[in-house]
Amino acid sequence: MYLVANWKMYLDFDESIELAECIAQFSISKNTALIVCPSDIALADVNRLLPKSVGRCAQDGYWIEKGAYTGAVSMEMLKAVGCEYVIVGHSERRSQFHETNEQVAKKMLAAWEWGLKPILCVGETREELETGKRSHVLREQLGSIFVDHKKEVKECFVSYEPVWAISRGGVGQHCEPRDLAVVMQDIVGWVCECVPEVDVHFLYGGSVTPENVCSYMTVDHVEGVLVGAASTYKEKLQALLEALAQ
Ligand code: PEP
Repeated sequence: MYLVANWKMYLDFDESIELAECIAQFSISKNTALIVCPSDIALADVNRLLPKSVGRCAQDGYWIEKGAYTGAVSMEMLKAVGCEYVIVGHSERRSQFHETNEQVAKKMLAAWEWGLKPILCVGETREELETGKRSHVLREQLGSIFVDHKKEVKECFVSYEPVWAISRGGVGQHCEPRDLAVVMQDIVGWVCECVPEVDVHFLYGGSVTPENVCSYMTVDHVEGVLVGAASTYKEKLQALLEALAQ
């Protein structure tokens, strides 16, 4: 089971180091793969502090290797500081930084080129859900990679994260596990039809807490969760790991 801890911009450098030091003291069950995603400012130091068994992940990466791209960090640079994973196409990047499906696809390709396993986030907004566009939106997000670049696809993660369920500091709206089961079935069906030979792992993200994590893990095809807010508190992170170990 995977637990991807996305610290977003919640933790500053000192707070990230403090939480990484706590993680180094956790006893983590062998059946749980914890993957930690600090902000870029703390990435190299956190990567050095984490135990070997914990995955190292960046929250984003740019597709060009080097050059005049102020503010960007390339996949090559992430690899050089020990990253093995990179989140690509998070809904906050898509909505607040206007990332398109084409740009997300370029990031996926660059991640594979540099030997990183990308964690692709897909999901619909509340408006898209209410106007019956969920299926179309998901197909576009997935199609720009699994159809348009079918031949280049390598091992990766697909995290279904309904935008309306993602917390904004507090707790977002709850996605019912029975609704998740229906969407997951569709996503897994499309992806496996496109790239039957490739290892793709499926995750869920959206206001996951120690209290509800087990309900999501019972859903078919869900191999783990991507957690934002709750993963930034030592006690909650530990409780999530304990819940997953049961
Ligand atoms: C996320 O970071 O993608 C996420 C799901 O955040 P949260 O757990 O805070 O809803």
